Amino acid sequence: MRYLFLVIISFSYIFANAHIFVYHRFADERYASANTSKAELIRQFEYLKKNNYQVVPLEKIVAKLKNNETIPSNWVALTIDDAYKSFYDNGLEIFKQYNYPFSLYVYVEATNKHYGDYMSWEQIKEASKYGTIGLHSYSHPRLQNLSAQEVLEDTKKAYNTFVEKLAIKPTSYAYPYGEYTANVTKILRDNFDFDAILNQNTGSINEKTDRYDIPRIALVGEVNITHKLRYKTFDVKWQEPKEFPKDGILRRVHAIVDPKYKTLKLYITNEGWRDVEVKDGIIDEKLNIYLQKARTRIMLGSDVFTVSNKILNKIKINKGEIDGK
Ligand SMILES: [Zn+2]
Repeated sequence: MRYLFLVIISFSYIFANAHIFVYHRFADERYASANTSKAELIRQFEYLKKNNYQVVPLEKIVAKLKNNETIPSNWVALTIDDAYKSFYDNGLEIFKQYNYPFSLYVYVEATNKHYGDYMSWEQIKEASKYGTIGLHSYSHPRLQNLSAQEVLEDTKKAYNTFVEKLAIKPTSYAYPYGEYTANVTKILRDNFDFDAILNQNTGSINEKTDRYDIPRIALVGEVNITHKLRYKTFDVKWQEPKEFPKDGILRRVHAIVDPKYKTLKLYITNEGWRDVEVKDGIIDEKLNIYLQKARTRIMLGSDVFTVSNKILNKIKINKGEIDGK
C-alpha cells in the first residue's frame, strides 16, 4: 500500500498541470455564447471545492513560472474578460461567497466611455478588493490586423488610462478575442512591464509554460468541468507553421517532441484528428491543406486531452481592401 501511494504521488508530480479558466458574462441570457448562469457557476465552484482544487490568485502561478518551480496540479486560477456589468451584478457575489480570487481584464475604452454593458471605474475599484485587475486593450481590436505602431498606441492608451483611473499598474494582459501573433507578443513584451500575457487556447500550465503565452480554457454555458480539468500540457517545440501561411495553404507541420513517441495525434480545424508518425523525436508531416477559417487551430498531442495548441490567425494586410473601403 505504501509503495502504491508513493507511485501515485510522483506521477502527479511529474505531470503537474494547473488550469486557468476564463469567463465572460454572468446570468446574462441575451448572450448564450458568452454566458455562465449563477446556478452553473455555483455548480462549478462546488465541484472545485469538493475535489480539493485550490483556487489561487493568477499571480501565484506566475511566480512559480518566474522561478521555474513545479506548479501543484490542484491549482486553478479564474479570470474574467471584458469587465461586463453582469460580473459585478451577478458573478462577484458568488466569488465572494466562496472566497475565490480572480483576475478581471478591463476593456478600457468601454469602461472609460461608459458603454452600457460594462462596469464603471468605481465598480472595478470595488471588485479589486477581491481580485486583481488586468488589461484587455483599449479598443478591443483584433491585434493581428494592426501595425506594430497601432498595437503600441492601443496598449499605451489602455495602460495610461488604467493607471490614471485606478492608481495601480496592470501586471498582466489578456488578448482581445484571444488572438495574437508572435509579433504582437514581442511588442507587448518589449515595451511594457507585464508579468504575464494570457491567450485563450485550451490547455494547462506546467513549469515549462511561457508566462507570456499562458493558455486559458473558456467556460461558457453548462460545461463538463471534469473534462476541462483533464487537459494536460504536451511539450512540443513548434518549428512550422509559426504563423498563418501567407497564401493560406498549410504545407507542413514540423515539430520536435520527446523521442519516446512513435505516433502522435494531430488536429487541424476543419480537418479533425489524424495520426502522425514520429521519427527520432521529429514530426515532419507534409500537407496540402487550404485553410478556410481565418482562425485555425492546430493541436499536437499524445491523446485528445494531452495537447499543445497552435492558433494561426490570418493577418489582413490590406485592411482597406478587405473591408471594402
Ligand atoms: Zn474581450
